Amino acid sequence: MQFLTAIKNLFFLFYPRVCANCSQSLMEEEAFLCLSCFQKLPKTNYHHCADNPAFDRFLGKVPVCKATAYLYYNKGGLGQKLVEKIKYRGNIYLGKWLGAYLAGDMLSSGFFDDVDYLIPVPLHPHKQRQRGFNQSEVIAQGIASVTGIPVKTNILYRRKANVSQTRKGVYERWKNTEGIFDVKNSDLLPNKHVLLIDDVLTTGATLEACMQPVLKEKKVQISVLTLAIT
Ligand SMILES: [Zn+2]
Repeated sequence: MQFLTAIKNLFFLFYPRVCANCSQSLMEEEAFLCLSCFQKLPKTNYHHCADNPAFDRFLGKVPVCKATAYLYYNKGGLGQKLVEKIKYRGNIYLGKWLGAYLAGDMLSSGFFDDVDYLIPVPLHPHKQRQRGFNQSEVIAQGIASVTGIPVKTNILYRRKANVSQTRKGVYERWKNTEGIFDVKNSDLLPNKHVLLIDDVLTTGATLEACMQPVLKEKKVQISVLTLAIT
């Protein structure tokens, strides 16, 4: 509970005083979610098992060291609601708080051991200007506040925006993301273990597209952490 109090205090100045899920007024000791909704967080606990459904999405496709997703993203569920509040309603403090909370919860599992950089999946600069923030970067900042691992936004970048993937099939989605990311400052990568951060893991095609240019560098290890998984 000491840890929860610490992260609550960290964001005390910013968070809205109603529950992000049920909109009830929060008690003084609650942050973002009321106790009842907080206890309903649909946690996967995948980080306790190396071979988990998030890891399996990359199996046989790209050499991922570790992969996990913290919440289930079910249609109409709490996981989806929280992601949408961050992404489309611009609640960046909720994103930072969730990042910090999941990092604290996962810390003793050793998932972050040996990770050198947190790299959020980049948005296209045009999209980021439009949205005003990158939701993956916000989550990564929350994780960094607890783990002390630096967030690197000067390595991976998006070369082109891709069209909405929501109506495409698996193969089309994969083709659609091929070659959209690249790396700069590649001298920062050799012998490093990078943890890619994204909001939602679906097919894994976007994260795979991020990994392709990174894996061209020598002796790089890549792991994946997303806030939620469909
Ligand atoms: Zn609530």
